[in-house]
Amino acid sequence: MNEADLRSVLRCRLGAVESRLRAAAERSGRRREDVTLVAVTKTVPAEVAALLPELGVLDLGENRPQELWRKAAAVPNVRWHLVGHLQRNKIAQTLPLVHLIHSVDSERLLRALDEEAARRGQPARVLLEFNVSGEASKSGFAPDASSLPELADLLFNLAHARVEGLMTMAAFEEDPEQTRRTFVELRVLRDELRKRVGSRHPLTELSMGMSNDCEVAVEEGATLVRIGTALFEGLA
Ligand SMILES: *Cc1c(COP(=O)(O)O)cnc(C)c1O
Repeated sequence: MNEADLRSVLRCRLGAVESRLRAAAERSGRRREDVTLVAVTKTVPAEVAALLPELGVLDLGENRPQELWRKAAAVPNVRWHLVGHLQRNKIAQTLPLVHLIHSVDSERLLRALDEEAARRGQPARVLLEFNVSGEASKSGFAPDASSLPELADLLFNLAHARVEGLMTMAAFEEDPEQTRRTFVELRVLRDELRKRVGSRHPLTELSMGMSNDCEVAVEEGATLVRIGTALFEGLA
């Protein structure tokens, strides 16, 4: 596909995603501007990702750190989001490139990020990933109310990692309505944690909703949706 065709396909798909997000926001008395669309570019080459800023998409996501490093070098004028697992030995190279890490899935990783942020003298903006659906294939903190006091203590003692909110991936469902309880649970967890942590961390963000279930996520309070397939299917 030539660049002009790619552009028009992307423009058309973006329009469709925009209408879905706008309709979901309106249904739930929210504003479209309260939800950030993160385009997850993991299935397409950097040349496709590079077309997004001129179409108004300035938040791009990758699920693998090394791929994020590569694409961030090729497409520097956007905010990069890491949405997949981060190994501790890749923190130092990743932190300077990312706007937000969605996928902090263990206390060990959170501590290590705090230490690296201290070394850099700059806060690290992160979300805590919760495995709400409980699938073995997914990583994240267990959504277990009894572990929240301990987690809140840890958050209290972080000096340089700023926990902006929580993230989850729902199980894939033919009927997206079935994902609603996962998103409700994440919001309730966020509210509980915020009560315990007070103003020590913002905890304002909810990263939830993908191509198949973003409307339900927006209805339940998502502030960041991570969309891949609906924009990029077949464009690899
Ligand atoms: C790939 C990916 C997405 C995008 O999923 P789609 O269903 O393709 O929209 C969102 N979040 C994470 C963590 C991903 O790895």
